[in-house]
Amino acid sequence: MFDLILRHCTLPDGRTDIDIGIAGGRIAAVQPALAGEAAEQIDAAGQLVTAPFVDAHFHMDSTLSYGLPRVNQSGTLLEGIALWGELKPTLVQDAIVERALAYCDWAVARGLLAIRSHVDVCDPRLLATEALLHVRERVKPYLDLQLVAFPQDGVLRSPGALDNLKRALDMGVDVVGGIPHFERTMADGAESVRILCELASERGLRVDMHCDETDDPMSRHIESLASQSVRLGMQGRVAGSHLTSMHSMDNYYVSKLIPLIREAGVAAIANPLINITLQGRHDTYPKRRGMTRVPELMAAGVPVAFGHDCVMDPWYGLGSGDMLEVAHMGLHVAQMTAQEAMRACFAAVTDVPAAILGLEGYGLAPGCRADLVLLQARDPVEAIRLRATRLLVLRAGKVVATTPASAATLRLEGRPDRVDFRI
Ligand SMILES: [Zn+2]
Repeated sequence: MFDLILRHCTLPDGRTDIDIGIAGGRIAAVQPALAGEAAEQIDAAGQLVTAPFVDAHFHMDSTLSYGLPRVNQSGTLLEGIALWGELKPTLVQDAIVERALAYCDWAVARGLLAIRSHVDVCDPRLLATEALLHVRERVKPYLDLQLVAFPQDGVLRSPGALDNLKRALDMGVDVVGGIPHFERTMADGAESVRILCELASERGLRVDMHCDETDDPMSRHIESLASQSVRLGMQGRVAGSHLTSMHSMDNYYVSKLIPLIREAGVAAIANPLINITLQGRHDTYPKRRGMTRVPELMAAGVPVAFGHDCVMDPWYGLGSGDMLEVAHMGLHVAQMTAQEAMRACFAAVTDVPAAILGLEGYGLAPGCRADLVLLQARDPVEAIRLRATRLLVLRAGKVVATTPASAATLRLEGRPDRVDFRI
């Protein structure tokens, strides 16, 4: 006896006509022609059922603040940081909570049920930290929010930042962050990586640093991060976010670096929408794309996820919590157009970030929590192509969001009266 059976599902791994039985909020069976009763049955009609989308890199303390107090004119990372610095003193906790909750509503509607968000701890009041810890509890029934203590202004460069960061961890923030390329010197950046990795190691926490988010081919903090990961035995618990300088690095150096990242068990998180927008701003033509070397890292066995990073904030004025839009951009920027490569882009917003976050009970196997998304698409490639409608979103076996199927009605003589963009 099941609470719910989803019938005739296609799964991201290519299996078709699979039934998924759900009992007690968990997946109880995944097999063809599942026998048994259920209180409710839903016909997926051969469409794709996936575990939910996961965003490995986001900033929920600044989301939906676009235009406050003004818009980023140059479009650069540095003006974004300066603009955020103007906004920070005026932030009110209730407003941060309201905006974060509103974003989580968008996320759930998009089938995005787990987010790793950095939270800026360079504020002695730790207002945003308190706000997002509150939000983490509020959304827990429907969304896993993992928080990273992020010293936006540099843990060494900003007075008091290390103490604030430790206080944030004491308050229950999950992961240690950093921003070595924003420290005053390359040496300070390396020192910040050492201090922060040791702090994480002592506390048994994961690490996720903004790392080398520049177009400088000589910015090499990922080397320090990998080296510290090896030294401290933190393989599998460390992520380097952005790594955009790798786009501009010398190829010979990269041929040494990528195996080091692999050896260190460090994951890479690219943020295609933001990287293609912020990087290359000092270039004339040709303009660099700036995204890290995604297919090369993947080929070497490094886990690579795509993050959204920003939605309507000082750095980016667009976005709607749609991880398929993120995968779509990543695919284009990395020129990952082979069928297998496009499927890897889907994994980069589902399975891979789930592993980077260390999510418990994530997946489509029996025993996993019944968090599922039914898409209006027949496979992961079609899902990316159409940024497919999330027909149904389940959290622990309960429907938490629905969206009507997307189709256009035509009024053309001798032509079909309806198109949904599938051949
Ligand atoms: Zn970021």
